[in-house]
Amino acid sequence: MAKNITFTMIKPDAMADQNAGAIIKMIQEAGFKIKAMKLTKLSNERAGEFYAVHRERPFYGELCEYMSSGPIIAMILEKENAVTDFRTLIGATNPQEAAEGTIRKLFAKSIEANAMHGADSDENAIVEGNFFFSSLEKF
Ligand code: UDP
Ligand code: MG
Repeated sequence: MAKNITFTMIKPDAMADQNAGAIIKMIQEAGFKIKAMKLTKLSNERAGEFYAVHRERPFYGELCEYMSSGPIIAMILEKENAVTDFRTLIGATNPQEAAEGTIRKLFAKSIEANAMHGADSDENAIVEGNFFFSSLEKF
């Protein structure tokens, strides 16, 4: 399994706050190469499918509402140890617990509207990348 690919989304709150440019700059300066990028908007159903693993969690309904509330930017990124290094760059799920200088510390509003998604394993990075991009787009 490839260890050099991760999948990420700039979430609706960061898009609405016009932080996409600053976030992409941080990603590139951290050494990630953008392999695919798409501005899109999820329907409530598609958001539910993407976060199906959280179906039983109390925040699932609100999470689907939030993730379908505005445009997002989906990206496939390449770097050695991409998944782990990207999770370090974005910081903890709850921005109050995120380390200084991380994307969530700088840009997240709350534990829900936390600016950025990052895949949590090499396997999920592939599954999530395939959710948004056809193989033809992954150049
Ligand atoms: N989330 C939430 N409330 C919580 C935990 C998570 O609204 O108590 C949202 C938040 O947007 C988070 C997403 O659900 O990013 C997925 O949760 P996960 O535990 O997978 O966190 P992540 O992997 O994004 O850090
Ligand atoms: Mg997660």
